[in-house]
Formats: sequence, structure tokens, C-alpha cells
Amino acid sequence: MKNTLLTLALLVTLTSLIQAQQKAKPEDTEQWTPVPVKVDPGNATKAPSDAIVLFDGSSLNKWMSPKTNGAAEWTVENGIFTVKPGAGNIRTKEKFADCQLHIEWRTPAGIKGEGQDRGNSGIFFMEKYELQVLDNFTNVTYSNGQAGSMYKQFIPLVNACRKEGEWQTYDVIFTAPKFNADGSLDTPARITVLHNNVLVQNNVSLKGPTEYIGQPAYSEHGALGLELQDHSHKVSYRNIWIRKL
Ligand code: MG
Repeated sequence: MKNTLLTLALLVTLTSLIQAQQKAKPEDTEQWTPVPVKVDPGNATKAPSDAIVLFDGSSLNKWMSPKTNGAAEWTVENGIFTVKPGAGNIRTKEKFADCQLHIEWRTPAGIKGEGQDRGNSGIFFMEKYELQVLDNFTNVTYSNGQAGSMYKQFIPLVNACRKEGEWQTYDVIFTAPKFNADGSLDTPARITVLHNNVLVQNNVSLKGPTEYIGQPAYSEHGALGLELQDHSHKVSYRNIWIRKL
């Protein structure tokens, strides 16, 4: 009797499950809102329509010099700009937090030097977190200091470098660190980097601001500028755009 009742209950459950499945329609799991905003994706030389163009080929008026607190004085010529050794880093006037960045860079043809002393520059997210720029086509240095590394923190997954004197791209998705009300770290900064379209950093969690010596440690901060490094080498840049996320 007990077994018969159990079998009956099971049958009823199965039947209702089958009925529910039969009643379900493809439309049940369709979402029609919100509708993604339409963006013209641009192309190799044109930024997406919702991006902020940080360098249009003619002027550095979106940038300033943290050294002098005045104008960015790197050399602008032929649609590109180049580090002016000694002028110091340059920084965007606008501040950014979570963002997508496209930037193109070129180490000088015929450069001399080796290790870190060869086409060195860098891209500092929020003025603090350096994505290394260096000639490492054949040049050897410490792995967590080569092109595509998050300097002294994360080794690039592969070496996707082009030769010195050739243009290279970085496409980056950066997530800013979040802090608690008491200033302690909630979630670390994260970064994904494509170097010449090849994945070299896959959503790594940064240990803190880039340090040349010693261990990194977070301290609370809000949105800050994007900064390019003057490491005394004539590295050039072009076609820079950023999307706030
Ligand atoms: Mg550097």
C-alpha cells in the first residue's frame, strides 16, 4: 500500500514536471530590456563613438606635466608624440577609474642599451599601476619587468613583442580598486591586457601600486589621471583612446 502511494506521488510529480516543460516557451527566457546603447565601433584609426580621444595626432592639450604643473612638453610631430627626456611624465587632465584603453607605442629604431635601459616607458593607470613599455623583441630583462608585465608584479603570459621601431598596441580593461569606508581595501585593482591583440594579462588582481623597490601596499584613493612615463628614452605614442566603464 505504502509503495503504491509512493509510486503514485512520483508519477504525479513527473507528470506535472513534463507538463511545465511542455508549457515553457522560448520567449520565457528572452530579455528585451535594457537595450544596449548603440556605438559606432570605429576602426584601426578611428576610436569608438563613445570613447574619449586622448591624442588626436595634433596636440597634447588633454595632458599636463605633473613635474611643472604646466603644459605637457613632449614632442608632437607627424601625428605622433614622443617622450622628451628630462621633461618628466605626462598625465591626463581628466581622471579615470574603471576603463578600457587603446594605446599604440613604438620604441625607437636603432636603439642602444639593454635590459631596462632599452626603449623604456610605461603606462600608469590611476597614476600608480604600471603596465611596462620596453623593447623585448630579443632584449632580456627580469620577466616581471618586460613589455606586457605589470611591473614587478605579473609576468606577461607570452612575449608578443614586435621589433624595435615598429608600432605596437595595448588594449586594456582596467578595474579600479575599491575601498571600504574606513579606507581599508575592499577589492584590489584588476587588469586584462592584450599586446598586439594577444592576451598577456588575464584579469590579474594587482598587489598594490607599482613599486621599484619593496612590496606594494594599497592606500585609499579615488579616480586619478592616466600617466605616461619619461624613462629618458624616446618612445613614441599615437592613437590613444579611453572608454569609461
Ligand atoms: Mg617603465
